Amino acid sequence: MKASTVLESEIIEILKLQDSCPICYAKSKAVDSWIYGAFTNLLHNEDARTKLREGGLCRYHSARITEMARENSDIGSLAVTVIFKEMLLEQKRMLKGDARKGFFRRNRESNIGNCHLCRIASDTETRYLKGFYGFLYSESIRRMYEESTNVFCIDHSESLFKVLGTSESQWFEDVQNKKIGLLLSDLELYIGRHDYRNSEPIGEEKKAWLIASKIIGQL
Ligand SMILES: [Zn+2]
Ligand SMILES: [Zn+2]
Repeated sequence: MKASTVLESEIIEILKLQDSCPICYAKSKAVDSWIYGAFTNLLHNEDARTKLREGGLCRYHSARITEMARENSDIGSLAVTVIFKEMLLEQKRMLKGDARKGFFRRNRESNIGNCHLCRIASDTETRYLKGFYGFLYSESIRRMYEESTNVFCIDHSESLFKVLGTSESQWFEDVQNKKIGLLLSDLELYIGRHDYRNSEPIGEEKKAWLIASKIIGQL
């Protein structure tokens, strides 16, 4: 299908992917792209260094940076070492006297914290939630979602239910029930394949637990 806006074409591309929540995928991709762009040229990227120094990092995103540096020689451990050293120096200073009070107050007051990568994830999430909210009214986008192996995770399903109109909500409930029902059947099948009496080989159901890990939300 032909897209009429940049966001619509991005959404169409995401719907062509497989086995993930489209919004979680967009969030991770935005964060990974920022990490890649910033860390492959970090020594010349003062803006990125300032953002990391000023905001610090949540545990999840410092682990993601470390993981990407291990996997990707374009990033490597040197750039990460340089910025981690700068951040730690800055934060060591904040443990002293007056600076300490401001530092701990700021950390307590904000739910999202100051991690720059959390902000990128949050902005991307808002942009795509609005995008999907608008485009799920389109028959062709709905059909693309129905026919794909993507499943909106529980958290993003809840966010979409809050904004969709009555008939769209009914469609969304039906399609989510169908997709999650198929996933549950695959989980059941995979469990059954491990029975000692089973002689059937394991097929596509072997990835069901990995897909489920991306769909389960927090209650
Ligand atoms: Zn999601
Ligand atoms: Zn973060």
